[in-house]
Amino acid sequence: MNDAVVRTLVISPNWIGDAVMAQPLLQRLKLRAPGRPIDVLAPPSVAPVWRAMAEVDQVLETPFRHGALQLKQRWQYARLLRQRGYGDAYVLPNTLKYALIPWLAGIARRVGYKGEARHGLINVMHRDDTPPRPMVAFYAALAADPRAPLQAAPRPRLQASAGAMLAAADQAALAPGQVLVVFAPGAEFGGAKRWPAAHFGALAQALVAAHPAIRIAMLGSPKDQAAGAEVLDAAGAARASLINLAGATSLDEAIALLARADAVVANDSGLLHIASALNRPVVALYGPTDPDHAPPLADVAATVSLRLACAPCRQRECPLGHHDCMQQMTSERVWSALRPMLLRQA
Ligand code: SF4
Repeated sequence: MNDAVVRTLVISPNWIGDAVMAQPLLQRLKLRAPGRPIDVLAPPSVAPVWRAMAEVDQVLETPFRHGALQLKQRWQYARLLRQRGYGDAYVLPNTLKYALIPWLAGIARRVGYKGEARHGLINVMHRDDTPPRPMVAFYAALAADPRAPLQAAPRPRLQASAGAMLAAADQAALAPGQVLVVFAPGAEFGGAKRWPAAHFGALAQALVAAHPAIRIAMLGSPKDQAAGAEVLDAAGAARASLINLAGATSLDEAIALLARADAVVANDSGLLHIASALNRPVVALYGPTDPDHAPPLADVAATVSLRLACAPCRQRECPLGHHDCMQQMTSERVWSALRPMLLRQA
């Protein structure tokens, strides 16, 4: 590494979707200083998202346990960062412990939101006292002066290499030219965000009836394996066209398969936002969350939300017990959003 080059450090949020939403901040930073390398410090679970961004020079994986303060380890890690020549740092999590790292590393300019009373640790402090903003605008604003008027932010942008896409197609047993639809039936946050497996199964049946040669791949983390298995069980005769890859791919591989997809149907989850940033046609299913807070931004995108009076409750499990925001969202309704996307591709 050239010690004379001043670098920028970005400290990643802990959620995949939030990391995707932060990508326009990097576009803005690159525009301002094209020759300045940007490194990202990220948890291993989120690192693949940053590796899919053209603006990132190096991804450094955090050695810290989730939720733990680990003050001694943070101090030791900050000493390593000190040698890399950072001129500024953008701290995206709102917690005190992440603001400690650039301060301990002696980075002169430390940008972030006030968060957990971080006076002194953050010395270019933005305030989030405006009405709630979409996540993309929230992160992108950090590239400007805190007093500057808010500007429209560019869309998140991810990429996958042709080689990685080919390998992912092999993994999904996809024939050359075969139409691929990806389902993301899980949601890390909780069961309330999940569209029922029976509905995904009925949608698979409609897809296969309309496109008999189609391949439907399900993606997700190991925790979503059971949700994928339930969709398989609910798909009836369409089961032979489905493959459950939830828990069977790395996130790097999942990104490559999403990049190859002809359309994606996803709950409000990290995979939804990855597909959207890869500019794949997406149908986004929102139940207990606000579709306007983090909408899909692909050229071709449909948001399906019943906008019930009780929504957005933002609860992990339905506090009313009926889960109508997802139960009442029929497969016919989702199919009517998806069908024109596939016709358009054809
Ligand atoms: S309270 Fe309403 S929005 Fe929240 S999970 Fe239940 S049905 Fe959905």
